[in-house]
Amino acid sequence: MICSYCGTGGLENICSFCGANLNIKRPTLKEFVVLEDVEKPFNELSCFYTYDLLVLLRLVRKERTKAYDLMLTLKKAGKSPQIDQAMINYSEEQYGLYTKRMKVIEGFPVDRMDYTPKRVDDKLLTKLAERLQKECLCKLHMYILYSLKIENSQAAGSFSVFYNFKPVQEGS
Ligand SMILES: [Zn+2]
Repeated sequence: MICSYCGTGGLENICSFCGANLNIKRPTLKEFVVLEDVEKPFNELSCFYTYDLLVLLRLVRKERTKAYDLMLTLKKAGKSPQIDQAMINYSEEQYGLYTKRMKVIEGFPVDRMDYTPKRVDDKLLTKLAERLQKECLCKLHMYILYSLKIENSQAAGSFSVFYNFKPVQEGS
C-alpha cells in the first residue's frame, strides 16, 4: 500500500514515514449529494468531501427553516379545531431533528478548517468547485509525471486510486 499523504510505498497499516493510519478512509468527492445523506452515520459523513458537506449543509438548513415555519404556523393556528396537539408536537420534533442533523454537519467544516460558513450560497460553492477542479488537474499532472518515471504499472495504478479525478458536480 502507498501512503496517500506522503507517497511512501510498500506499507501495511501505519506509514513508516509520516505515521498516518492507512486503514482510515480519506474523504472522496461524491457524484452528487441529496438531503437523505444527512441521515448517514457519523463515520460515513466523515468520508465526505468538505465541498459535499457544504452542499448538504445548505440542503439541511433549508429543510430546517421549512420545519420551523411549519411549527410556527401550527402553533399560531393551535386554537382552531383542525389542529391538534399531536400535530404541533410532531412539527416540534421534526424541527429539533433537523437542528441536530444540521449541527452534526456543521461540525465537520469546523474540525477541518476551523469554521463553518454562515451562508452557503452559489457564489461560495462555485468558488470551491473551481478550486477543486484546479486541484484535480494538478494531481492529474503529477500522476502523469509520476507514471512516466516508474515502469511498474501496478504501482502507477495504485497511485491513481488514492487521487480523485472525478469531475466536480454540484448536487441540488
Ligand atoms: Zn505517509
